[in-house]
Amino acid sequence: MEWCLPEDLIVDMETVTNTSIDGSNLSTTMTNQKAIVTWMLYFLLVWQTATFLSDNGLAWLLQFLSRFLYVIGMESRYVAGIASIIPGTLYMMRKFLGFDRDAFQRFVICPKCTKLYKPDQCSTIINGMQVPLRCTHMVRHRRQFRECGHQLLRGATLRDGKKVYYPLKTYCYNSIIETLERFVRRKGFVEQCEQWRERNVEGEYGDVFDGKVWKKFMFYNDKPFLSLPRNYAFMMNCDWFQPYKRRSDFSVGAIYLVLMNLPRDVQFKKENLFLVGIVPALSKEPASLNEFLQCCTC
Ligand SMILES: [Zn+2]
Repeated sequence: MEWCLPEDLIVDMETVTNTSIDGSNLSTTMTNQKAIVTWMLYFLLVWQTATFLSDNGLAWLLQFLSRFLYVIGMESRYVAGIASIIPGTLYMMRKFLGFDRDAFQRFVICPKCTKLYKPDQCSTIINGMQVPLRCTHMVRHRRQFRECGHQLLRGATLRDGKKVYYPLKTYCYNSIIETLERFVRRKGFVEQCEQWRERNVEGEYGDVFDGKVWKKFMFYNDKPFLSLPRNYAFMMNCDWFQPYKRRSDFSVGAIYLVLMNLPRDVQFKKENLFLVGIVPALSKEPASLNEFLQCCTC
């Protein structure tokens, strides 16, 4: 893999090469050290993606580099300066680079009835104290409707005595529109989505484009839909998987969309999938996904 220095760092790196390590300008030296560490971290992230290295593997490497440079830094003040700013954990690395961990929106989910709540809807302040609320969703029970009433948050006491509350279960939602906006900015993506129009398969059902459902959506409510460019059709999937090797009772759901406009050989590629939501492990799989899809419209 060829690795080039990011353009925005070239200026800083030129300064690095033109500056004496023992120079009196401390501020410039620190800027240079930060540029070197930033360059290295960018490389590590690209290398992690290209080689499918796990977060755990990268965390090990960061920890090692941090200790390694600390030891080398005993002989060199410049290296010691680098060792002092190099992040030793993934969390610190993201903080150093100013990356958000992800773009997921988090909702609190009732473990009993799977009703979703925004985090600020799950507690209230009484006399300056945070008080957790319970699920207010009306559920059917013996031919009657009544409030679910299940606990949504669990409390924990910090070392300083402060009481904090965490969701019992969290649902993570990723905006479909934002993902599509990101995808259409890719070079050639929009053109790839229009390739299906040039297909000419007479009398054969070779793909979804040859089927009746696809043709039905050429016009929707008497208005052109798929017949016009830059209109997209999705197929929704939900798969359940067990993230732990030794626990068969723990099943997590992934809701994802497949962009049907894409050619079939790339439709299901990881880079083209729209991960919409991650459903946490519940006591049983939810009967309906409707609640989890409500976020798409909010
Ligand atoms: Zn509930």
